[in-house]
Amino acid sequence: MADSANLSSSSKPVSVVTGGAGFLGSHLTDLLLSKGHRVIAVDNLITGSLDNIAHLADNPDHSVIEHDVSKYIEIEGDVDFVFHLASPASPIDYLELPIQTLKVGSLGTHNALGLAKAKGATFLIASTSEVYGDPLIHPQTEDYWGNVNPIGPRGVYDEAKRFAEAITMAYHRTHGVDTKIVRIFNTYGPRMRLMDGRVVPAFIGQALNGTPITVFGDGSQTRSFCFVKDLVEGIYRLSQSDSTGPVNIGNPVEMTILQFAEKITEMIETSSPIEFRDLPEDDPKVRQPDISLAKSLLDWEPKVNFNEGIAETIEYFRGRVG
Ligand code: NAD
Ligand code: UDP
Repeated sequence: MADSANLSSSSKPVSVVTGGAGFLGSHLTDLLLSKGHRVIAVDNLITGSLDNIAHLADNPDHSVIEHDVSKYIEIEGDVDFVFHLASPASPIDYLELPIQTLKVGSLGTHNALGLAKAKGATFLIASTSEVYGDPLIHPQTEDYWGNVNPIGPRGVYDEAKRFAEAITMAYHRTHGVDTKIVRIFNTYGPRMRLMDGRVVPAFIGQALNGTPITVFGDGSQTRSFCFVKDLVEGIYRLSQSDSTGPVNIGNPVEMTILQFAEKITEMIETSSPIEFRDLPEDDPKVRQPDISLAKSLLDWEPKVNFNEGIAETIEYFRGRVG
């Protein structure tokens, strides 16, 4: 696998990471810097935080532009890669920010593609397993078209990402832009926000605080959790490959949400009781990636097991509760 294609005139490849102050964007940035890239984060901090990249403040290869990518993106100089990760990502974030979510998935993706086209850069869009909606096939393969309710509450996120995939393919076919689509499945790890509502920080925070673990529905719905270190490695490999995708990146180890709650209470040794709450509308009943394509195209599969990844995440949150 080539380490970088289409290098800029400086010896280091230049990557723009939209959403670079977010959970995944900050970890991807760390990986790109370790691979010798210069990284420019473009982020309006709507759900991200400069705290996630504070450790890079003195790194001459990293810079930050505070900007809403739903508006025209101006970057000086050469750019080799555009990683478009900007978007509210947790269900409570995109339910609170429905119009911003639709705009960043549509206008933001258009602007990020325009930047890649103008600079002759490779473009990668962070899509999601949500494009499969409440899936009717299991596990989900990339050739499945999905089962999405366009007018339900989650439609703002799911349809924005589906549009983002469509315009990415249009730029590839019409303008010849080198594009890649990664479909990311539930990912967790340090730098998630404790209160972002996603199940991993929610349950860990509740268990550490000794408050009830809020299982939505009867907890029989399934998810498959990938540690962030594995995830960004998969994204990096896709960016360096000849593949356009879409490619699923996620950890196929599947569990019910109730099993996940029990595992967290066991690992944290909490007295928190499990409490059942209403299931949110259109909550997918099952989710598990088929990663055959990632294995064959990218020689990628997750390496961090669940106990290891969750233990590291618990340690991160331990200092942040209360
Ligand atoms: P996050 O909220 O931590 O990061 C998103 C970042 O994008 C934040 O820093 C936010 O401030 C920024 N942003 C949002 N709108 C913006 C705009 N208009 N202009 C500039 N910046 C903007 O979420 P995350 O979990 O890191 O998700 C990153 C990407 O990965 C998202 O596109 C998300 O849809 C996708 N994804 C994540 C997961 C997951 O499990 N974490 C799963 C599927 C897809
Ligand atoms: N969930 C839960 N309790 C919570 C938060 C989430 O039971 O406090 C459930 C949610 O209903 C879903 C699963 O956990 O079935 C994963 O939710 P998350 O918001 O992490 O991501 P999703 O996969 O739904 O995008």
